[in-house]
Amino acid sequence: GNLFYKGRFCFTIRSMIPNSVIKTRFAPSPTGLMHLGNVRTALFSALFAYKNGGIFVLRIEDTDVERSSSHFEQAILADLKWLGLQWQEGPEVGGPHGPYQQQLRQSIYASSYLKLEQRGQVYPCFCSEQQLKFSRKLQLTAGKPPRYEGTCVHLSAQDVEARLNQGIQPTLRFRVPREEVVVFHDLVRGEQRFPAEHIGDFIIRRANGSPSFFFSNAIDDALMGISHVLRGEDHLTNTPRQLLLLLALDLPIPHYGHIALITGADGTPLSKRNGSKSIEELRQAGYFPAAINNYLVRLGHHYEGGQGLTLNQMVEIFELQNLAKSPARYDEAQLNHWQKESVAQADMERLWQWLPAEVRQQVPPAQQHPFIAVIRHNLSFPADACWWAQVLYADNVVWQPSALAIIQQTDKRFFETALNYLAVLPAAAVLSLAPLVNEFKSQLDLKGKALFQPLRAVLTGDIDGPELGQFLPLLSIHQARRRFDAALHWE
Ligand code: GLU
Repeated sequence: GNLFYKGRFCFTIRSMIPNSVIKTRFAPSPTGLMHLGNVRTALFSALFAYKNGGIFVLRIEDTDVERSSSHFEQAILADLKWLGLQWQEGPEVGGPHGPYQQQLRQSIYASSYLKLEQRGQVYPCFCSEQQLKFSRKLQLTAGKPPRYEGTCVHLSAQDVEARLNQGIQPTLRFRVPREEVVVFHDLVRGEQRFPAEHIGDFIIRRANGSPSFFFSNAIDDALMGISHVLRGEDHLTNTPRQLLLLLALDLPIPHYGHIALITGADGTPLSKRNGSKSIEELRQAGYFPAAINNYLVRLGHHYEGGQGLTLNQMVEIFELQNLAKSPARYDEAQLNHWQKESVAQADMERLWQWLPAEVRQQVPPAQQHPFIAVIRHNLSFPADACWWAQVLYADNVVWQPSALAIIQQTDKRFFETALNYLAVLPAAAVLSLAPLVNEFKSQLDLKGKALFQPLRAVLTGDIDGPELGQFLPLLSIHQARRRFDAALHWE
């Protein structure tokens, strides 16, 4: 069919992937821990593939040997699994287009270098780092965008031979056509135009023999049959280079969609400096994967539903056309909102395992579920349970200043009434709210706030928290007596 159209000076590059196969990929470089920005790209790519009954590929871009490590690779795999973003092709699961670590694909790249050499699309470049730096500087001072000036483009075969004999390891540069304008349709940003003259011949193989990012990234997308590349907007200017490469190699061209970046509160791209934590740190702090996914599916992807969604439900609502063109701002309060929501929805067993070990040791076996039921709406993070375990299982409670203020304002007869009521109960009785409330009503004519505020303050040590009706049965008569007694004698 009419796959792409080539004008005299301008050609629009259209995807050459059959529409029926939807294949996306996440292509992290294992040079650090994953952050929310990386994970959002992975999430959107996975959702789009799942939505279309397609395939989500994981590819490890570890060509930078110095900075890549298998430790980070393992961490990325662990984070993705924890988030539920399972890939159908990639490390551990294999697939028809492996290997899925770029370091293992050198021989595959070699055949593409050869093809480009045979087609006269590339040339060796002997310019040193220093020379290139100097040239960039000169161009910048002259107010021009820095690009390779073409020093080595016209070297004769003898010149090349001579330099090789001197033992200089050349890089390999791609010859960018001078007069064209590269035009393509971005799935998020619409039509994009890049005059090729601004691009400059770029390196596809480094002097040490490893492929450049532009090269291995584009070649692998094509060879792995990727139909849709969703990635950060920071890669937008790489795309025209990659399109030219794929055209030169007659390789299939995917659709590209460049997602607006996430910024920190200061408006600059989200990073460690402006408050972004790694997924590993978030996991260690007790965040649930559902909290992270629910937050991210609404960050730079328009979706306003207030209900927490499962991954399957996210697949339903995810739409490419709802990806935002403008940067999305990271807001920890929103992330924490979804965390609270996830805690509210999690099942008992999951929450129990999530609690800190010291809390699990404090709670008697028979009270595990009642304990969680009572406090779950007051928890965002596991550490929040420490306070409630203390409140429920220690004899005394440490009153918060706000609770103490209430206690000090309360008439001593309040505590006496409670103590008289408790005095006649057997030590093993289960406390319940209704009779206690009746007692205060009949003895002191109290109701509403005047009753519930001091009651909560004395028994829980705080002025808000769990429902008293659920809380009281977990407290022993002995504990309740001690607390009212302490309140009565507070000076
Ligand atoms: N390895 C690249 C990165 O982590 C992949 C970019 C892309 O998705 O094409 O930035």
